[in-house]
Amino acid sequence: MRVLLVEDEIRLARSYQRNLEDEGHLVEVVHDGETAYQRIMREGDHLDLVIMDVVLPGMSGIDVCRAVRGERVRVPILLLTALDQTEEKVAGLDAGADDYLTKPFPFAELLARMRALARRPHHFDPVGEATQLHIGDLTVDTLRHEALRGNTVIPLTAREFALLEYLARNANRVLTRQQLIDRVWPDGTEAGSNVLDTYIHYLREKIDLGAAVKLLRTVRGVGYMLQSPTDRRHSGNSSHPSSPDGGIN
Ligand code: CA
Repeated sequence: MRVLLVEDEIRLARSYQRNLEDEGHLVEVVHDGETAYQRIMREGDHLDLVIMDVVLPGMSGIDVCRAVRGERVRVPILLLTALDQTEEKVAGLDAGADDYLTKPFPFAELLARMRALARRPHHFDPVGEATQLHIGDLTVDTLRHEALRGNTVIPLTAREFALLEYLARNANRVLTRQQLIDRVWPDGTEAGSNVLDTYIHYLREKIDLGAAVKLLRTVRGVGYMLQSPTDRRHSGNSSHPSSPDGGIN
């Protein structure tokens, strides 16, 4: 992968760079947010991944994220956040980051996240493309506006389907409450946390109730995700993986 690494702590940056290069990745390192923004705007299409610290001199990693997403650049962005900074994680995801990793992390965990991002067919905020999405035995058919668990059709209202489709298009990544509200209630009417919780509850009853494998997961303090059985790295609170491989496959 061609990786842009944004980290202001020089020794840390060197160590990440060396490890990534040992794995065969091409790594460019920059040390501040403004330079990162310029590099992404110039090289975005040729980059496979941006790994970016949140706390940077000048523009923060979150500012950079928001700025490049504002320019419709869709390169995957993995943010490095401080331990237990849930607000930072939410702000980062709201700003358009694809994933986050809490420092310090085992290097194997970074590699696992990179593989997961590379496998993900759609980058941030995808438009159109796949018409049938599969998460475990759940099928979301975006042309027929139909969901099936196994062979059983699940009746859904239009709003429930919109919520499920957005979760399915971003399967295996956490979506924040604000992202879900903005997407499913774009006009702002009836938008609110309580309404979202209610719809998540309906959806959970329809797709997960009685199923051996639950797909719709709550990521405490952050939001929700639809998670395939083969991707269990975000089980519960994802901030501290218990195994170095984070449970990938
Ligand atoms: Ca820093």
